[in-house]
Formats: sequence, structure tokens, C-alpha cells
Amino acid sequence: MRPLGLYLHIPFCRSKCLYCDFCSVPRPEAGVVDAYLARLEADLRAAARLCGDCTVDSVYFGGGTPTLLPPGRLAGLLSAVASAFRLSPQAEVTAECNPATGSREAFALLRRAGFNRLSIGLQSADAAELRALGRLHTWPDFLRTWEQARAAGFDNLSADVMFGIPHQTGQSFARTLEQVCALRPQHLSCYALTVEPGTPYGRRGEAALDLPDEERVRQMYLDAIAYLGAQGLAQYEISNFARPGYECRHNLKYWNAEEYLGFGPAAHSDFGGVRTANAADLPAYLAGSLPAARETPGREERMNEYVMLRMRLCAGLDTRAFAARFGTGAGRFCAALERYAAGGFVRRTASGPAFTPEGMLVSNTILSEVLDFNA
Ligand code: SF4
Repeated sequence: MRPLGLYLHIPFCRSKCLYCDFCSVPRPEAGVVDAYLARLEADLRAAARLCGDCTVDSVYFGGGTPTLLPPGRLAGLLSAVASAFRLSPQAEVTAECNPATGSREAFALLRRAGFNRLSIGLQSADAAELRALGRLHTWPDFLRTWEQARAAGFDNLSADVMFGIPHQTGQSFARTLEQVCALRPQHLSCYALTVEPGTPYGRRGEAALDLPDEERVRQMYLDAIAYLGAQGLAQYEISNFARPGYECRHNLKYWNAEEYLGFGPAAHSDFGGVRTANAADLPAYLAGSLPAARETPGREERMNEYVMLRMRLCAGLDTRAFAARFGTGAGRFCAALERYAAGGFVRRTASGPAFTPEGMLVSNTILSEVLDFNA
């Protein structure tokens, strides 16, 4: 079996959060949604013709806010996937969800349709922090959505939280983690806020945002790793934590450099040795544009990419898997990475080098020194 992951982008939201640079439009008109779903289904059918030997073992509906769509439309998309591709009965099928976009009945319909995992965007349990982020929901909204999802039969739930957000303190972040952990999530994603150009935050500038300073952000991250680990949510990737067996299979595909196809604006694919990227432009996508970028990376670039992706995982670089994949040893990468062991940023495991929590904080800097993407 040739495993394949599918990503379906749903670029619609209730409103635009102030920090968001994802490809999503607020309050879409019904006609736009109809046209979008028709294009997505046509793309799925066209791509499936090239995937006759593949079995889809993960489907991820991301956004945007997939659960803004009526549940019947989301279920219809999953059914279009199942008609076009060979879909494993054990596939992980995830929808991203925002608090207060759903109901027990809606989640029950999704569960019956084959969705088995929801990733719910909380970001913070603190009302002032949510307002500062421009999020429309409250902690009670999140709690209600979580309980509705559980009641509808979702036994694999993830929450997203953020640190380094305006007005946040170590204590308020710790309270958010405590409140979420009391709900016994199977998975938690914990991201640092980045201020992106072109967003309202980017236009205001970091100095105007009352952001916690670098040292406090660093401490929030290290404290989160320790606290979540003690709660049974072990870190397995820079920003992701899970109970054993609940690591996100879809995202693991990216970090293990496995094949996936992405559909919709801003979606990326890596399939058959070819990488493609769609423009982050909904009107262009609706007008039938082709991928904006297409490349066939050479072996050296793939080796560098593999090391970069694998080093995101706490397990680090698996030298045996590297050798099986490329027919050569990873010695030069290991030697370059292990130079950072003396500073406490890298540790040596039985299978290869891995970042320590301190190393994860500076992983981009280390990897840019170690890897060569112009090779
Ligand atoms: S809900 Fe998510 S995708 Fe939508 S605007 Fe907010 S951050 Fe962006």
C-alpha cells in the first residue's frame, strides 16, 4: 500500500483575527461557498486519477474554519473523498473547529459521516487575551463546544493554545493550560504568536502590542513542556503534545516527509517527487488557476529537507530511516548537529541527534547554520 494524506483547505471564517495571515475570508456569500466546494470536488476527482495505487490514511480539513460550513456540506466533501480515492477504514479524519461553530447535532452528523478527530481553536482561556487577539469566542463558548463534541462521540479531541500574546503573563498562560488539561484532551497544540506583516498586528507593530518579552516567552514554553508532560501530554514535536497513541497522524506525515496532496488556496502538495504550492488567493483558485509553484527537488535538497523536518520531532533524526531512504549515511548531518550538544541544545539518542527543549527554542537558527538548501 502507498499511504497518502489529504489536506482540504476551507478558507472561510466568521471574522478575521487580528494576528491571522492564513488564507481565509470572513463571512463568505453562499454563492462563493457553492463555487468553492464544486471546485474542490472537481480537483479531488482529477487528482485521484493519479493515485490509483494509493490508500488515503489521513484526511485533514483545515482553514479557515471548516465547521463554519453546514455539517452536511463537510460530510459531502468527505464522501467526495471516499468516492474518488481508496479511503482506509482506519483513516484519521480531522476537522479544525472554532468555539461556537457547531452544535451537538452537527458534531453527531460529522461523527456518523466518518470524522473521528476535532481540533478546536481556543488560543486562550482569558477573556482579555481573547479580545486582544480579535477572537469572537469566550472560554464558556469553548467549553460548550468541547462538551458537545464529546457528547456526540468524539473521543479524540485536540485544543490549540498560544503563548506570547498581548497582555499575557506566565500565570495567565498557566491558568489556560490548567483549564484545558482539566478537560482531559487527547492532544494539544501550543504555538508561539508571531506578528506577521500584512496583518492588523503587523501594521500596529510589536512595540504597540504589549507583548511579553523574549525571556518570559522562553519561560512560558519551557514551563508548558514540563506541565503538559506531568499531565500525561508528552511533547512529540516542537509545538505538539499528545497522550500515547494520539499524536496527529496527518501532521506526522509532514514531519516524516511522506506523501500528501493539498487542495484549495495556499495548499501544498508533495507527491511523486514533485512539490507544488497553490497561491493564497481564493478568487484565483475559483477562476481555475494552476499551482503557483512547482518543483522537483534533487537528492541533496531532499536530504536537507528530511533532516529539517525530522528534527522538529522530539525523537529527532532517525539515522537508519535516513540510510534506508537515501542509500547513504547521515554522518555529516549528525556531526554538524552534535556540535550543539555542548551548549545543551542537542542530545544524542540511540537513533540519532534530537533537540532538547532549549534547542527547540532556537531550532530555526541551528538548522539554518547546519543545512544547505542551495545544494
Ligand atoms: S479563526 Fe483561525 S483562520 Fe480564521 S481568522 Fe482566526 S486565526 Fe485565522
